[in-house]
Amino acid sequence: MPMNRIQFQPGLSLPAFLEQFGADIQCEAALERARWPEEFRCPHCGQADPDILRKRGRKTFQCQNGRVQTSLIIGTVFQSTHLALTVWFLAIYLISQAKTGLSALALKRHLGVSYPTAWLIGGLAAAGGAASCS
Ligand SMILES: [Zn+2]
Repeated sequence: MPMNRIQFQPGLSLPAFLEQFGADIQCEAALERARWPEEFRCPHCGQADPDILRKRGRKTFQCQNGRVQTSLIIGTVFQSTHLALTVWFLAIYLISQAKTGLSALALKRHLGVSYPTAWLIGGLAAAGGAASCS
């Protein structure tokens, strides 16, 4: 029986994932690159070079023109909870690596969050994944 190349394609191991996304600052950098591949531009006036603030631990860009603030996570699936980005990224990793899906109960155990939170993450991550694939 020939080898199924899709099943044997290289993936991202858990140690490699943790090395790349194990710290909140790494997740922030990845999210920032995904949102603004060139550089941050104020969504209101297009100004670059914002002041960087920390609001409730979250990176926030403040436009030097109008002092308008834009959170790194606003407008993403991450804005709806107070979970660390590392937890979100790990959830997305686990969901994307699970060949036959991942129950909210399994996600709860892996992440150490409540069942309602795990259920919410599963739904939002699936919706976000579907949205990014369309
Ligand atoms: Zn602006």
